[in-house]
Amino acid sequence: VGTDEGVVVGVDVGGSKVLAAEVRSDGVVVTTVAGVTPGADVDPGLVEDALTEAVEEVASGRRLAAVGLAAAGFVDALGERVMFAPHLPWRGDPVRARLQERWETPVALDNDANCAARAEIAFGVGRGASSVLMVTLGTGIGGAVVLGGEVQRGHNGMAGEFGHMQLVPDGHPCPCGLRGCWEQYCSGRALLRYARAGLGHRPTLLAELCLGDPDALTGPMITSAAEDGDLLAREAFEEVGGWLGIGVANLVAAFDPEVVIVAGGVSAAGDRLLDPARAALARALVGAAHRVVPPLVAARFGPEAGTVGAAELARRVVSRG
Ligand SMILES: [Zn+2]
Repeated sequence: VGTDEGVVVGVDVGGSKVLAAEVRSDGVVVTTVAGVTPGADVDPGLVEDALTEAVEEVASGRRLAAVGLAAAGFVDALGERVMFAPHLPWRGDPVRARLQERWETPVALDNDANCAARAEIAFGVGRGASSVLMVTLGTGIGGAVVLGGEVQRGHNGMAGEFGHMQLVPDGHPCPCGLRGCWEQYCSGRALLRYARAGLGHRPTLLAELCLGDPDALTGPMITSAAEDGDLLAREAFEEVGGWLGIGVANLVAAFDPEVVIVAGGVSAAGDRLLDPARAALARALVGAAHRVVPPLVAARFGPEAGTVGAAELARRVVSRG
């Protein structure tokens, strides 16, 4: 990569954090700069100032070749506007054009889950596969659909919102207003609920880790207790994994992908989560005995996925001209 080509920067605009990175054309992250997102109740200009600061710090005086933005929110079908983001102030704002004008460099925009999928199909565990599903397990569920090698964004730009598929009629209420959504059973939040439900009923390391306060329990505590052999923690992962497999079986029935990638904080548990998910997938998938059941694999990229995918998107947009 010659310096005269300029710097390609990927920016992950999360609900609380901004992460900007210089990303090489082979997907390697060279430098990162982290900042704080000002919040949802501020002037959008303040968020754009924070992004500008992070991008300038990464570029450190060098010419910008392109910037890709991965936003934690709904991005319209054209990749122009952030329509809604629970933790950001943009409401239909033409973010792409506005920042392109401000930074005087090509800017590309997509939501964070789609950008993470772009990182995996370009440089990660989805490389070479033409049909891929990605399920991101964080507080809730995010996702992406890749068909024919292309991320499918849908008519409204809202494809891949798997977390709100209804899996349990009249089930747990969801902040989205519906009930029984997949992410109520399979997510970081669900993992905490399962673990909390067992606290106080049986001996568990978790009681010591959270000092007896169920509200103080965190996902990483459950991961670490499961590593140390705690049965309640392991069962909480089995429960989430079981629901993961059931939801994925529905998605595989619909899309018949080559591989299913599981990303997000909860996936740090690895096979402790994925093994029960694989078993549930094989049980719940239509025609499982007569087809190749797609492998369920952990993502390669962690917290940098959004920046790598956003930079890749920006490169592609620039090279298309
Ligand atoms: Zn929902």
